[in-house]
Amino acid sequence: ATTKQDTSPKAFAGFVTVRGAREHNLKNVNLTIPRDALVVFTGVSGSGKSSLAFGTLYAEAQRRYLESVSPYARRLFHQMAVPDVDAIEGLPPAVALQQQRGTPTTRSSVGSVTTLSNLLRMLYSRAGDYPKGQNIIYAEAFSPNTAEGACPTCHGLGRIYEVTEQSMVPDDSLTIRERAIAAWPTAWGGQNQRDILVTLGFDVDKPWRDLPKKDRHWILFTDEQPVVPVYPGYTPEQTQRALKRKEEPNYMGTFTSARRHVFHTFANTNSPLMKKRVMQYMLSTDCPTCQGKRLRPESLSVKFAGYDITELSRLPLKRVACILKPFAEGTATGHEKQDAEHPEQAIVAQRIAEDLCARIHVLLDLGLGYLSLERSTPTLSPGELQRIRLATQLYSHLFGVVYVLDEPSAGLHPSDTLSLLNALEGLKKAGNSLFIVEHNLDVIRQADWLVDVGPDAGEKGGKILYSGPPEGLQEVTKSKTATYLFGRESIPVRIPRTPTGWLRLSGVTRNNLHNLDAAFPLGVFTTVTGVSGSGKSSLVSQVLVELVAEHLGHVILAEEEEGDELERAAPVQTGGHITEGIESIKRLVRVDQKPIGRTPRSNMATYTGLFDHVRKLFAASPMAKKRRYDAGRFSFNVAKGRCENCQGEGFVMVELLFLPSVYAPCPVCHGARYNAKTLEVTYRDKNIAEVLDMTVDTAWEFFDEEPQVHRALTVLREVGLGYLRLGQPATELSGGEAQRIKLASELQRTQRGNTLYILDEPTTGLHPADVEKLLAQLENLVEAGNTVIVVEHTMRVVAGSDWVIDIGPGAGEEGGKVVVAGTPSEVAQSKNSKTAPFLKSLLH
Ligand code: ADP
Ligand code: ADP
Ligand code: ZN
Ligand code: ZN
Repeated sequence: ATTKQDTSPKAFAGFVTVRGAREHNLKNVNLTIPRDALVVFTGVSGSGKSSLAFGTLYAEAQRRYLESVSPYARRLFHQMAVPDVDAIEGLPPAVALQQQRGTPTTRSSVGSVTTLSNLLRMLYSRAGDYPKGQNIIYAEAFSPNTAEGACPTCHGLGRIYEVTEQSMVPDDSLTIRERAIAAWPTAWGGQNQRDILVTLGFDVDKPWRDLPKKDRHWILFTDEQPVVPVYPGYTPEQTQRALKRKEEPNYMGTFTSARRHVFHTFANTNSPLMKKRVMQYMLSTDCPTCQGKRLRPESLSVKFAGYDITELSRLPLKRVACILKPFAEGTATGHEKQDAEHPEQAIVAQRIAEDLCARIHVLLDLGLGYLSLERSTPTLSPGELQRIRLATQLYSHLFGVVYVLDEPSAGLHPSDTLSLLNALEGLKKAGNSLFIVEHNLDVIRQADWLVDVGPDAGEKGGKILYSGPPEGLQEVTKSKTATYLFGRESIPVRIPRTPTGWLRLSGVTRNNLHNLDAAFPLGVFTTVTGVSGSGKSSLVSQVLVELVAEHLGHVILAEEEEGDELERAAPVQTGGHITEGIESIKRLVRVDQKPIGRTPRSNMATYTGLFDHVRKLFAASPMAKKRRYDAGRFSFNVAKGRCENCQGEGFVMVELLFLPSVYAPCPVCHGARYNAKTLEVTYRDKNIAEVLDMTVDTAWEFFDEEPQVHRALTVLREVGLGYLRLGQPATELSGGEAQRIKLASELQRTQRGNTLYILDEPTTGLHPADVEKLLAQLENLVEAGNTVIVVEHTMRVVAGSDWVIDIGPGAGEEGGKVVVAGTPSEVAQSKNSKTAPFLKSLLH
């Protein structure tokens, strides 16, 4: 362990003071924290840590920065609320590294986020080996995103898209009327095209395969767009008669071939759904010119150390570092010859290679050596992305700023945590401050200063329980953090459950898994462990989910649905199959941390189905019956009952000239979201808006006579969400909260057993006290006859499971194997497992 610093107040360079912070649930708190130190904010989920670190400190630093730029520039920034705080003094400029899937900017990759790709292009341009007679090319020409660099055939996409008769007409026994041309638009758009074909004299009632080849080809592929009279509702005979009589048509319709429709929609639509729909009719293959490498031939002909730039970008960073090392040190073979012939080139190569090596090493130190530069950011976990951005900061040589981080240990195996701490130490040594929201006890222990927020969540939190050097927290009896930080570390050995059967997979192939066999016990609680990048998610969240879903006939939507479709690589085949045990699984449920909705129109009450019951209660009240209001009347998404001024949003956007637009409560309903008539109806003296404003705890007492509502609320309390308001918009919920809401909606279903639950790092964002609540719920699921499989790094959770599968031993190609599988005590004895020592120290 690192040596502890002197943490007496005099040891710090200066302090940041906060007075009267009231953001969200903060109770008008005052706080003094040191600068140039590692300050960790702790407390149960929902206690107010983020409201303090991000909502107040970071937001204020940001606001001050924006004050200093022109109003015009300010408009370009995201809407940033002014924090509710009286004063903050001594605050340095801030950089936030938050846990969020960075908006998948088109074509962003590890190389572009870290700016390493820029350096690499410079290396190829200035120090690459050119074929004889080829002129030096500029660095930009090594980027597929520039006109100079993009492969002329595929325009830098690496893939070409085509449509075929087969892809657009999947079932050729259907007639055109029966929608043989699946690629055409649905609903009216499709009928329109059919009616146009009728006018044009094609037979729309003959099976597709019986139509003449020439006709089929024209309908699918022509670029002609004839405009013809259309008589909807007429039979083909009536249409021909109408045409002959020159009858006034209903309208003039424009024909569009299926291919034209697919490509036009693909290129022009703004709707991801539409894009997705037409993409299913397109076939894509590697570009024949660049073989998927996206660059023009001249660029690919330049080599460094024998690799073209795309090849190098596809290697794990660890390998890249090894390849560049001899160049950085001036010991590369063939070096003397180059020295003599092109001395300047050799010097440039050494400079750039040195710089690249230094930067890559920071990434290796953070345990990211298994990633390649080409890896696209949407496929990274939020934790990986945050560490990449942290590494980028580490060599940006900023000083005097405060970094505000959200759980940097997320996704890290305990054996990787030390390098994270070293990286943070590096930023601090360079003269920066670190404000970190964290639950990991190993990180909390290394803090120079702790701020514990609590004691509980929401209304019952928002106070500063402690602010000072970590040791002092021991005295604070109210603190839940103190219990875990100074409490008993070992966990009593429990007797693991016996599996009721096994789910066996064979030949699993995906990412770094090559022909792997794995067995998951049924009817018990299994944890899957291993260092970051070892292959846990590939095995559990990808292949296992896909194989089981396929057997159950579910459709799994692609993970990166919202990203740029073009960024998705070729569809991956699920390598492997299930050899045993699938017959005992009837349902598959994934409980992840993705938002439950992206608009303020969805909230906890709507998501869990709780709101349906509540609306029925209102509809059953005497006044509602008299006025013939049905349950739909009490939805803020339906025109009948909602406030028309704000369309049920509760607020309106006010455009300000030269200033960012602001949201203000709706002047008509004052934020209630409903119209006055609807609000006149009450249930036990409360109107529907007042009910939505209740916390789960309050509502639980209020609805004690309504078994269905009460049951749903009980479960929400049990997963620790008693502090949330029923109508809290989905957009205000954290990932952990969203996950627990999903879990709660599962728990309130009648349990029939035989369900497989899969969770990927469910403890992210959870305080150890919340982790216990979560575990209790997972135990309930197993007790009810279900199977639970969890990818996890928290050793307390692993120690409490029935079966452990450790993947590794290392990351990337150094991992991908089952190192050991067994009960926690068996795995703790393993000699090769990186997890074993950490598990062993917990079990006694
Ligand atoms: P923590 O970081 O400790 O988990 P937060 O600071 O995120 O807690 O939340 C503290 C309280 O503020 C919670 O009750 C949470 O529901 C509420 N809250 C969080 N974000 C918002 C928001 N944008 N608007 C209103 N309330 C919020
Ligand atoms: P873990 O879940 O143990 O952190 P992953 O299963 O996410 O590990 O990753 C295992 C390996 O597969 C790593 O080398 C990772 O970089 C690679 N990998 C994971 N997902 C993808 C992907 N979508 N595209 C390419 N490589 C991937
Ligand atoms: Zn190409
Ligand atoms: Zn309104």
